[in-house]
Amino acid sequence: MVEEYHYDLVVVGGGPAGSSAAFAAAKNGIKVALLEKENSIAETVRTSGVTWIENIKEFGIPDNCYNPIKNFSFVSPNNEVTISDSIATAAVLDVRKTYRWLAEEAEKVGADVFVKTNINEVIKNKENDIVGVSGVGPNGKIIFHSKVIIDATGFSSIISKAMGFVTQWERFGAGAEYEAKVENVDPETWWLMVGQEYTPAGYAWIFPLGNNMVRIGVGVGKPESNVDPTQRLKEIIEKKLGPIKKLGKITPIEFHYGLIPNDGLSRKTVFNNLILVGDSAGQANPLVLEGIRYAIKFGRVAGKVTADAIKNKKTDKDALHPYEENWRKAIESKINSAGKVQDRWIGLSDKEWDRELDIIKELKTEEFLDFIKAEFGLSNMLKLAVSHPKLAVRQLFNLVRGR
Ligand SMILES: Cc1cc2nc3c(=O)[nH]c(=O)nc-3n(C[C@H](O)[C@H](O)[C@H](O)COP(=O)(O)OP(=O)(O)OC[C@H]3O[C@@H](n4cnc5c(N)ncnc54)[C@H](O)[C@@H]3O)c2cc1C
Repeated sequence: MVEEYHYDLVVVGGGPAGSSAAFAAAKNGIKVALLEKENSIAETVRTSGVTWIENIKEFGIPDNCYNPIKNFSFVSPNNEVTISDSIATAAVLDVRKTYRWLAEEAEKVGADVFVKTNINEVIKNKENDIVGVSGVGPNGKIIFHSKVIIDATGFSSIISKAMGFVTQWERFGAGAEYEAKVENVDPETWWLMVGQEYTPAGYAWIFPLGNNMVRIGVGVGKPESNVDPTQRLKEIIEKKLGPIKKLGKITPIEFHYGLIPNDGLSRKTVFNNLILVGDSAGQANPLVLEGIRYAIKFGRVAGKVTADAIKNKKTDKDALHPYEENWRKAIESKINSAGKVQDRWIGLSDKEWDRELDIIKELKTEEFLDFIKAEFGLSNMLKLAVSHPKLAVRQLFNLVRGR
C-alpha cells in the first residue's frame, strides 16, 4: 500500500538545518513534516561538532550538550602556538544529543517527524515546479504533497539534484575521525595539526569531549589531494604524531566519516516552491570547514520565510527570496574572504606552515577567534593589514581586507 500525505512544508533531511527549518516553520503556524532516512535522528554522526558558545546560547541549546573549550593549540612540524582565553568561547558538541534536541524542539511546536523515510524522487506540476517528494518509508512507498519543500539533505543535495538544479560539489573536504577514550587530555584545549605528515591539504584535530573522551580526526581537501583520510588517521595514531603522543593509550569507541562542500557560495538557494539550506546550500566557513551554526541559523530563517510565504499564498522564487537575501547579507563577504585565506593555506609547505604559526602567535585572543570564525572586521584585525610591523602579518590580513 502507498502512504500519502499533504503538508504545507516538507523538510527533507533531519540534520541541524532541517530540524531548525521545521522548528521555525511549525512555530509560525504552518503544517510541517520533517523527513529523515535513518532509523533515528543523528543515528550516524558525520561531524566533529565544534561550534561557539555565543551561538549555542543564541539557539537555546541546553548546557549539557557541549564541552567548553578555552585554549586553542596549533602544531606544525616545527612550531607550536597556544592561544588562551579567560573564559570558554568554543565548544565541542555532543552531536547526537544536540541534533536530537533540535528535532524535539520542532516536534514540540507541532512538526511531524518521519524517520526511516528515504526520499529519492520529486513530484512536479505541469510548469515543472516541485510540488512534492516520494520515496521509501517504513511501510513501503511513501508520497508527500507540499506547497514548499526544503532541501536539507546535506552534501548529497538529493532534492536539488533530482530537480536538475545542481550537480555534485567539485571541491569538498573529506574527514575521518575516531571518538575515543584516552588516558590523558586537557578537556579545555583543542589541537589543530598542520603539515604534510598530518594531511597534505587540510588539517588534523583533537577535540576533547570531557570525561577523557576526544575526537581525533583528519580532513583532506578534494580534489587537491588523493590521500584517504581514514588511512591517514590510522597512520598518525599509530605513529603517535605530535600531541597525539600525549594522549597515552587510545581506545576508539566510534568511527565518523563525512564530506563537506567547499565550493564557496556558488549555488542559487531559492527556486519556485524550493529552498536549499545548510550543506546543500554550501553554507560553511571554509577556513575550518564548520557549518553547524550556519545550518541552524539559516534553517530557522528558511522556516520563517516559508511560513510567511505560505500564509501569503505565494511560494514562488520571489516570495522565498528574502531567505537568500538574509543569508547572503550575513555571510557572503566573510565566506569569500575566508576562501582566500584557505586558498593560501592549502598550498603551504611544512616550512611555510612553521612561519604561518609565527603569524598566528602575533594575534590577540579576540583577533584569533574572529579570524578562525571568519568574523573579519569585528575586531581590530583589519588594522593588522595596514599597521602591523611584520610584512608577513600584513600580507595575511590583506587577503581578508579587500573583497
Ligand atoms: C568530517 C567533518 C567534520 C566536520 N566538523 C565540523 C565542526 O567541527 N563544526 C561545524 O560547525 N561543522 C563541521 N562540519 C560540517 C557540518 O557537519 C555540516 O556543515 C552540518 O552538518 C550541515 O548540516 P545539514 O543539516 O545541512 O546537513 P547534515 O548534517 O548532513 O544532515 C543531512 C541529513 O539529511 C539526511 N538525508 C540525506 N539524504 C536524505 C534522503 N534522501 N531522505 C531523507 N533524509 C536524507 C541525512 O541522513 C542527514 O541526517 C564537519 C563536516 C565533516 C564532514
